Amino acid sequence: MRITALAGGIGGSRFIRGLLAHLAGAYPDGEGGTTAEVTVIGNTGDDIWVHGLRICPDLDTVMYTLGGGISTERGWGREGETFTAKSELASYGVEPTWFGLGDKDIATHLVRTQSLAAGYSLTEVTAALCARWKPGVILLPMSDDRAETHVVVDDPSGATDDKGRPMQIAIHFQEWWIRYRAALPAHSFAIIGIDTAKPAPGVLDAIENADLIIFPPSNPVVSIGTILSVPGIAEAIRGATAPVIGVSPIVGGSPVRGMADSCLQAIGVATSAAAVAAHYRARTAGGFIDAWLVDEVDAEIVDDVVALGISCRAVPLMMTDVAATAKMAAECMQAVRA
Ligand code: GDP
Ligand code: CA
Repeated sequence: MRITALAGGIGGSRFIRGLLAHLAGAYPDGEGGTTAEVTVIGNTGDDIWVHGLRICPDLDTVMYTLGGGISTERGWGREGETFTAKSELASYGVEPTWFGLGDKDIATHLVRTQSLAAGYSLTEVTAALCARWKPGVILLPMSDDRAETHVVVDDPSGATDDKGRPMQIAIHFQEWWIRYRAALPAHSFAIIGIDTAKPAPGVLDAIENADLIIFPPSNPVVSIGTILSVPGIAEAIRGATAPVIGVSPIVGGSPVRGMADSCLQAIGVATSAAAVAAHYRARTAGGFIDAWLVDEVDAEIVDDVVALGISCRAVPLMMTDVAATAKMAAECMQAVRA
C-alpha cells in the first residue's frame, strides 16, 4: 500500500502522525500493522533566507513532528528550545527580528545551508536531515527549485503613487504571516520562480504510483495550493489512478488554527468546508479530489459537496491528540474503500 500526502506544516504533519499511528495499528480500529509506504510531498513555498540560513519551515515541521522533536506547545520548532542567538541578533539591530529562530533549530539550518552550498539538492539535504529524525515517511520537497510565496499588499509604510493610490508591494509570505499576522489584506499571492520550478525527483512517481492520495488539513492556498502550482503536479494528481481524498482544514466556518481565512479571502473563496471542496473541485470535473471529509459540525453541507460530484462524509475532525487523529485517518481509509 503506497500512500502519498501533500502537506504544509502544522496541520499536515499532525494528520500524518495520526495516519502513521493508524497504519501501525496503534489504536483499536487501526490497520493492524499494514505495511504501507507513506510519501509526504512538502510545501517549500514558505522557505526563506534568514541571517544567511536557508530555512524550510514546513519540511522541518513535518520532520520534527514525525521524528518526535517538535515543540508540542508551539507546534513548530523544537521542544525545550531557547532563543539566545535570536535575541543576540536583535541586540545588533539586524533584521528580521520577527522570525522565530531557535538555538537548536539553527543546527538544522546550518547543516542544510552548508549542504546546499556544497552542491547537494534540497531533496538530498532533506533525506540527510531525516536520517537523524527517522520520520517514518519519505519526505520530499515539492521542488528543488526556488518557488517562494510572496504576498501583494498595500505598502505598510503608507506610501502612495502619483495619483494618491496606495503603492502595492510584494513581501515574503513569512513576513506577512508572522510579522503582520496575515492582518494586512492580501491582494494576491505571487510564487517567485514557480513557472520554471520542476517537481523534485520522486514527486511525480509518488503521485503516479500511489494507491491513495491524501490532502490532509493543510492550508488550501499557501500549502496545498502552492504544491499544486508546481508545473506537472496538478496534472499528475488529475491523472493519478489512486483515489484522492481531502480533509477539511475549515471547521464551522473558521480555520482550526492559523489565518487560512485571510488566504482564502485573497483568492475569493469563502471560509467554509464546502467552499474549499468546491475550490479543489471533483476530479470528474477536472479538479483534484474524489472524496472530502468535513467535521460533524458541518454535517449540513455534505449534500452540497456531494452535488459537486465529490463523495463526502461528516466525522470528527479535531486533531486534539494522536488517538483522535488516527481515527480521522481511519475515516479516510473507510471513505475511500466505500
Ligand atoms: P502551516 O504550514 O503550519 O500553516 O500548516 P498547514 O498548512 O499544514 O495547516 C494549516 C491548517 O491546518 C489550518 O488551515 C488549520 O485550520 C488546519 N488545522 C489545524 N489543526 C486542525 C485540526 O485539528 N483539525 C482540522 N480539521 N484542521 C486543522
Ligand atoms: Ca506553512
